[in-house]
Amino acid sequence: MATRGNQDSVDKVDVVVIGGGIIGMATAWNLAKRNKRVKLFEKGRVAGEQSSRNWGSIRSQRRPPAEFPLMLESVRIWETLESELNADLDWRQEGHIRLCYDDKLLEWADTWVPIGREHGLDTRVLAPSECRKLLPHYSAKGLLGALYTSTDGCAEPKKVMTALARSASQFSAQIIEHCAVLEILTKNGMASGVISEQGETRADAIIVCGGVWTSRLLKPLGVHHPSLWVRASAARTEPLNIDLRKLVSWGQCAFRQRPDKSLTLAVAEHGCHDVMLDSFRYGASYLNLAWQNRGLFRFSLGKPLSDDLKGRFEDFAREENRMLDPVPDHAALERARKSFAIEYPDAQSLHLTRSWAGWIDYMPDGIPVLGESSNISGLFIGAGFSGGGFGMGPISGKILSDLVCDGQTPHPIQQLDPSRFQV
Ligand SMILES: Cc1cc2nc3c(=O)[nH]c(=O)nc-3n(C[C@H](O)[C@H](O)[C@H](O)COP(=O)(O)OP(=O)(O)OC[C@H]3O[C@@H](n4cnc5c(N)ncnc54)[C@H](O)[C@@H]3O)c2cc1C
Repeated sequence: MATRGNQDSVDKVDVVVIGGGIIGMATAWNLAKRNKRVKLFEKGRVAGEQSSRNWGSIRSQRRPPAEFPLMLESVRIWETLESELNADLDWRQEGHIRLCYDDKLLEWADTWVPIGREHGLDTRVLAPSECRKLLPHYSAKGLLGALYTSTDGCAEPKKVMTALARSASQFSAQIIEHCAVLEILTKNGMASGVISEQGETRADAIIVCGGVWTSRLLKPLGVHHPSLWVRASAARTEPLNIDLRKLVSWGQCAFRQRPDKSLTLAVAEHGCHDVMLDSFRYGASYLNLAWQNRGLFRFSLGKPLSDDLKGRFEDFAREENRMLDPVPDHAALERARKSFAIEYPDAQSLHLTRSWAGWIDYMPDGIPVLGESSNISGLFIGAGFSGGGFGMGPISGKILSDLVCDGQTPHPIQQLDPSRFQV
């Protein structure tokens, strides 16, 4: 499927995509379907970072308004993706439920319903008795109600990424793993190519989908992309001998039951910001977001990375950064396991079999950056998905491919414009 970068040469393609996560891969797939010659560079393994580590939730519920129309379109793509990719993705469309244990959350759910409906979502507030019908093994102790959106779904991230990469390759996209892009080249204010560990590749368009690394790639070009890293943890359980509805549930913990009956489990609304040099650089622009989410995340000392102000790129090439593998928050996952056992008393003795973590790239306004740079024509960015990029992957790839092939997209992306952070 993918090749390993090892030769020194200058080559020419139509489009270079940087990053083999869901955004880059969905973009390469869409471009290759439109007969563009595409080369995707991945510094480590395809889906080695966020895109294989996420919970697999495909959620329109509680999205920021700017993401709504895009997410609805993404769900439409998800509905036919298995047949289009000719692959089993464990896609289930059995809804998303947010259980509410306090009046404030229930009030918030009530106010959210008309917003969702206005955008065509089948979303409603359920009484505790209705929740019990959807989740028969659930204790419902202290439950006041729940926000339920029936059209939301879930899929297995690794299966999705394997199928997308296979299909992109079948449409002749070149996927080069273990090959970092070290520099983006420009000529007369236009993107003209990249220098990778393999040498120089010229292209008419460069698409940066580098997840948490994006700001480092863009900085030497004067493109301000103030993303910060938030570490999120998840765990897998042993198979549970009760059959839960295949929805994604957020209560005291968040979970999704997989087809083999094991669960992907996490603490709902919990993240850890690992403080780095960027935290001081960009921190002020996050004060609003931090205030809105106060109490939902904590701080710890982050990964030491080189000072990219000088335009150095050794971070990409260092072996430990080929595929970021942060330490999971074991204490938080144990709390999630205990909460699950309270909510589902039949699962008292459920054990965690493995745990992992991933760094999420957050933007100050919590919404992604999707579009062409206003500084450099032919430079496109798809990054900063702030914890919701798996669900948004299919539509984002379509939009970036529209922009390259047609110079425009029918989807509303004005609020996601990269220039909104330009100083
Ligand atoms: C624990 C966890 C749970 C989550 N749960 C959900 C969920 O349920 N639903 C949801 O919608 N989202 C979820 N997310 C968020 C979602 O996973 C991300 O928003 C999405 O995967 C982002 O995709 P991406 O392609 O932008 O980034 P990534 O998947 O991080 O991919 C970026 C890639 O770029 C590569 N790269 C970077 N720099 C270079 C370079 N210089 N050269 C070559 N390659 C480079 C990296 O190696 C990486 O593979 C979760 C995230 C985590 C960590």
